Amino acid sequence: CSDTFCHTEKYLYSMRFSDETLRDIKSRFRLELDKGLGRDTNATATVKMLPTFVRSIPDGSEKGDFIALDLGGSNFRILRVKVSHEKKQTVQMESQIYETPEDIIHGSGTRLFDHVAECLGDFMEKHKIKDKKLPVGFTFSFPCAHTKLDEAVLLTWTKRFKTSGVEGMDVVKLLNKAIKKRGDYEADIMAVVNDTVGTMMTCGFDDQRCEVGIIIGTGTNACYMEELRHIDLVEGDEGRMCINTEWGAFGDDGSLEDIRTEYDREIDRGSLNPGKQLFEKMVSGMYMGELVRLILVKMAKEGLLFEGRITPELLTRGKFETKHLSAIEKTKEGLTKAKEILTRLGVEPSMDDCIAVQHVCAIVSFRSANLIAATLGGILNRLKDNKNVPRLRTTVGIDGSLYKMHPQYSRRLHKTVRRLVPECDVRFLLSESGSGKGAALVTAWAYRLADQTRQ
Ligand code: BGC
Ligand code: MG
Repeated sequence: CSDTFCHTEKYLYSMRFSDETLRDIKSRFRLELDKGLGRDTNATATVKMLPTFVRSIPDGSEKGDFIALDLGGSNFRILRVKVSHEKKQTVQMESQIYETPEDIIHGSGTRLFDHVAECLGDFMEKHKIKDKKLPVGFTFSFPCAHTKLDEAVLLTWTKRFKTSGVEGMDVVKLLNKAIKKRGDYEADIMAVVNDTVGTMMTCGFDDQRCEVGIIIGTGTNACYMEELRHIDLVEGDEGRMCINTEWGAFGDDGSLEDIRTEYDREIDRGSLNPGKQLFEKMVSGMYMGELVRLILVKMAKEGLLFEGRITPELLTRGKFETKHLSAIEKTKEGLTKAKEILTRLGVEPSMDDCIAVQHVCAIVSFRSANLIAATLGGILNRLKDNKNVPRLRTTVGIDGSLYKMHPQYSRRLHKTVRRLVPECDVRFLLSESGSGKGAALVTAWAYRLADQTRQ
């Protein structure tokens, strides 16, 4: 074939996966789950399978007045969450977004937590609750080791964060220290939860069947309810506990080398954490736009796009963002958007160029949805086996900017999951109110427990 569209198809052949390949990746991921859970294999496992000490989804009896902090997603947010219980359980929320400038997230841990404590102080001031000691739930969207709900040792930073002196430390202690140092208010940090866990809990509030939480945003990750008897690292055999899989690290031991491309390797080399979070770098919002840009540069260099025009803008890292990819993939205005965005990069695109670029975007975002469908399929298979049922009926709670903003992503993901795990009836539930509500529900539970212990 001779047209640009066709060239693109051939060019990016290695980013297209057959269902057979996706099933193979699903099986590989299932093995990772076993490794992470096993006593002897956990230490060397790449998919960490971290116990969260969250033991059930909301049961409808939670109540109280809480503060939720949400750090590590696309925004730093503080929320006040009131859960009341007249006739029916209702949740009322107010929130505010605070800036987290780059010099803070790339600076020292002390400065970061001073900043968080300062924002919290400002929030309490504005809500006139500085004299109250409200229970706080902390959504902290990074891999943490827990020995209880209110202790979370950061294992490693991911995504845009690289603050010094925090890895290996308990973030509750660091935040408490920063609050104490100020001395103008008190706070009782009751629980630290990953954003996946917050999402599962938020969705579990509306659907009792929810037992998986996934994030497809700046980063990606999933959690699910595992049988305690399969969690070697936690005492006890009865009941379940939520496991934070940290699936973003899938492939860090080389197990995805056969499907990684030169573009994936280039992204990794230029990242804040080379060699780490290799699966995340193939699929999540922080990297997808950049993946497209690298492909466009190479295609232009080979004369397959823009009549070979290469501009300084096109060559600048970060100039093509994931939100651009989302705009270009819109059904109606996609090509107009492509023209606008590419014109801003100075490459003077023809109609053929726009069509080809739209196709590149589709291949990259399809690959992401397909890979996530494979790993999610692995979790669903595991849940089904745990329950020992012929068909699994379950709900997956989802959040994340990519999943929410991309015009085609969710539909493609749902479709592929249903194809890869036909033995599961999956309901996908978008977490409308983010993970803060879920964090508050966990906090409510922890608070009640602490209360019972005190009495
Ligand atoms: C982090 C996870 C988090 C995910 C989504 C990843 O980079 O390691 O803990 O859940 O991003 O925010
Ligand atoms: Mg156990």
